[in-house]
Amino acid sequence: MTVNNTVLEEGIMQIPQWWTCPSGYEELQEKAHLVGKNELLPRASISDQQSLYPRESLRKIAEAGFGAVTVPASDDGLEAGFTGFAVLAETFAQYCASSTMCWVMHTAATQTLYAAGNPEQRRRFIPGVLKGEVGGLAFSEPATGSHFWNVVSSAPRHGDGYLLNAHKSFVTSAGEADWYIVCTNSPDSKLDDKLMFLLVHNDQEGLEFFPFNAMGLRGNSSGPMKFNDVFVPTNNRIGTEGGMNYFNDNVIDPLFLLGTAACWTGVAQGALNAAIDSAKKKVHADTGKSVASYQVIRHELAKAQILIDSSRSIVYRVAQGLDQLVKNGEKIGDHLLPVWQAKTHAADIVIQVTNQALQVSGGRGYLTGQVEKFLRDGRAGAVMGPTNEILREWIGRSLIEVPWFE
Ligand SMILES: Cc1cc2nc3c(=O)[nH]c(=O)nc-3n(C[C@H](O)[C@H](O)[C@H](O)COP(=O)(O)OP(=O)(O)OC[C@H]3O[C@@H](n4cnc5c(N)ncnc54)[C@H](O)[C@@H]3O)c2cc1C
Repeated sequence: MTVNNTVLEEGIMQIPQWWTCPSGYEELQEKAHLVGKNELLPRASISDQQSLYPRESLRKIAEAGFGAVTVPASDDGLEAGFTGFAVLAETFAQYCASSTMCWVMHTAATQTLYAAGNPEQRRRFIPGVLKGEVGGLAFSEPATGSHFWNVVSSAPRHGDGYLLNAHKSFVTSAGEADWYIVCTNSPDSKLDDKLMFLLVHNDQEGLEFFPFNAMGLRGNSSGPMKFNDVFVPTNNRIGTEGGMNYFNDNVIDPLFLLGTAACWTGVAQGALNAAIDSAKKKVHADTGKSVASYQVIRHELAKAQILIDSSRSIVYRVAQGLDQLVKNGEKIGDHLLPVWQAKTHAADIVIQVTNQALQVSGGRGYLTGQVEKFLRDGRAGAVMGPTNEILREWIGRSLIEVPWFE
């Protein structure tokens, strides 16, 4: 029997594909599931247990054609837009949150280089990225914490370049990326906005890396970095000397927030999938019933799935909205409120859903394994900047028509 294109088999209601995937992106999603199942999942728990950077997984992602997904096809990118990027992030995250977050940061770094960089810089870096080179974003500093757009470090002019001194508190792929876009201040800039982006190679002199010992995302190598008297030639300045706040609002924030929102949604779905599997398989010998046969458990699964789909719906609606803004030639930075909502909601529900998944899985859910790993990984969402407190404040201020950026 078919109802509204939904095939009903023996009374089982199928989940329609249009509900879980934006129209036109089905093939991309299927390809991402294959990469996730075959390449990311088998390495995920090793990466977690040994705090091992997911280099091989990232290489496989690039080999599958996802090294530069937001870069236009004219420069050999996938030109998948915000929607394609979100579909990939959500799907990869159902298998491995660590490699997904490294890839999200890499994609945001690559797009920043592409959007703010000049043609020579694009020619120099994009081919490497397509082959699997990894980029990182070094923004947050201990001095200003969550306010990662207000850095205190600086890089004065020095010969034909800049002398960078900066202390960064968290850098995903620290010590592992091939290059970093470092956000700093230019004391020599004539502009009011002193923000400047410098590209630093991983093997340059003066870089120090520190370990990342964390609750989750243990493969990410998101530790602190120090840049001590690092010389950066002018041709590695990405964009202008100062004035780079524009790229924070129009490139980095939208991509990073959407990508992480998609990632936390995928983590929640991955945890719930594992919990459903466990609830169906575990049968009590005394009652002869599976855990899934208890109605209270089924209600918990249903509540969790509705939360995930609420987040997924927001993520894809925002992604499609952003793609439309680009088509219309509008400034994304004037439309950030929906992106803030997407990230806040996803980072909230992943905490709730992974807790539900653990509860449904019982004591086995508490043991080292898929569900507890997703719970630990997903907890990062709310504390990653802009944190949920800051985003809620910006949303609330916007609602009462008070400037959000004060
Ligand atoms: C796993 C992981 C990976 C990361 N990767 C990167 C990366 O690749 N690049 C990068 O640049 N950064 C990265 N970060 C840093 C991240 O973006 C945040 O800057 C960082 O998590 C904030 O932590 P903090 O200890 O500095 O917070 P603090 O600023 O000390 O905040 C502490 C608390 O105060 C709240 N708070 C702070 N300011 C306000 C405010 N104005 N209003 C209301 N509440 C406020 C916060 O929400 C939080 O609850 C990463 C962080 C993590 C956890």
